[in-house]
Amino acid sequence: MTAGATTPSLELDARTWQRACDRLVETTRGLIRIPSINPPSPEAPDLELVAANHIADLLRDAGLVPEVLEAEPGRGSVHARLRGDGTGGDPLLLLSHLDVVPAPADRWTHDPFAGELADGYIYGRGAVDMKGMVAMELGVVRLLTDAARAAGRDPASDPIPGLGRDVLFTCTADEEAGAVAGARWIAEHRPDWLRAAGALNECGGVATTVGGRRLYPIQVAEKGYAAYRIAVRGTWGHGSMPRDDNAAVLAAEVIRRLAVPGPIRITPVMGRFLEEAAAALPGEAATILRGLASDAPEHAEAALATTCDPMYARALRALVRDTISPDVVHAGVKYNVIPGDAEVQVDCRVLPGTTEQEMRALIEQKLGPDLVAACDVELLIFGAPVESPAEGPLFELLVQSIVDHDPDGVPLAAMAPFGTDAKFTGPLGVPTYGFFPLMLDPEERFLERFHGVDERVSVEALRWGLPVLYDVVRRFCG
Ligand SMILES: [Zn+2]
Repeated sequence: MTAGATTPSLELDARTWQRACDRLVETTRGLIRIPSINPPSPEAPDLELVAANHIADLLRDAGLVPEVLEAEPGRGSVHARLRGDGTGGDPLLLLSHLDVVPAPADRWTHDPFAGELADGYIYGRGAVDMKGMVAMELGVVRLLTDAARAAGRDPASDPIPGLGRDVLFTCTADEEAGAVAGARWIAEHRPDWLRAAGALNECGGVATTVGGRRLYPIQVAEKGYAAYRIAVRGTWGHGSMPRDDNAAVLAAEVIRRLAVPGPIRITPVMGRFLEEAAAALPGEAATILRGLASDAPEHAEAALATTCDPMYARALRALVRDTISPDVVHAGVKYNVIPGDAEVQVDCRVLPGTTEQEMRALIEQKLGPDLVAACDVELLIFGAPVESPAEGPLFELLVQSIVDHDPDGVPLAAMAPFGTDAKFTGPLGVPTYGFFPLMLDPEERFLERFHGVDERVSVEALRWGLPVLYDVVRRFCG
């Protein structure tokens, strides 16, 4: 860490940090132990509310007056406000979600809902997506309210020392399934929980070691999503006399055509990312990244497939095009009955600049006139892509704070291939950045932990990240 009077985390002593980091680890483990799975199971439909109430207890313990609301019964979201003295402008939003995707335990080496500590890692569903960051945001809140109390102030009503603007803490339900009972509802009914000069959210700020360099992609943009149900019409018949218009056979051809990757389009954010990453990386990696951004990217994409870690290759290939992933297939009722109907559901992820109509047109173009005539394409859900400026005071603070705490780190503005609650803060005019600062071990396969088996987060990485996030909040609000 570079020394300097303007680094707020340096003003706190070692014992304070030790206590805050221990608290961060225990808060993360405690949150993982509440299986706030989305979609909720019929046996335990209110675990998001249990998680929201648990977080509210922690906020109350910090001296704040939290609010819990249910967009639908059992779907709890939680919010609290820390007051600044009003001299610094609009609030800063610390945004997070408390729900997690399911975790069938059979292939895990640790119970996904026990929050076990092993080999320097906290294991469990939500460790990276995103209870670790909920706990880190709570850790920053707690440091601020501790400071208020130490100065004889009541955090429930008095300004926090050193804060010119308010800090909002908002943790939502239902992020993992469209946010209808979470941020989407909150944006409509309680926009005061989200309105801010800027927001910090999940996904970016995580060290990714490539070619010996630690890159920190800061999420400034994310793709949109468009899910479709494709009803395939064939002809029912007797299995003894195969038919070309068997709906299962047609569905197989639908899938084959849709699975072929579409054309590459480099958005401005990705163009800058590829250029800056190439400048930081040695030899072949730089050549491939520059090639992707060139007029003839096909050669670079082929090289990506053969030389790059498949985890990064998959992410990069998804970030330079509108993608289509056929993920659900239904056909057939009995082995000797030719199915006359089939259904394919596809998950499409659209780049900034691609509309829903354009996505649908791409599907129809790939299907071709023969299959279009046999299919009905129905939109299930759409979420627009979002972009925040990769410039301005908050973004620059994110960059600066990374470099302060890791002088060899390379912060980069980046896009996420998936969606977050930024879909709902963006339209409110809140620049939203994915920033979960973690300095991970170079071998840690972070991207595969998201929704994966043995999801985990390194204790050391969390300890490194807390002062980074604290510095951003203090500087932006100071
Ligand atoms: Zn998430």
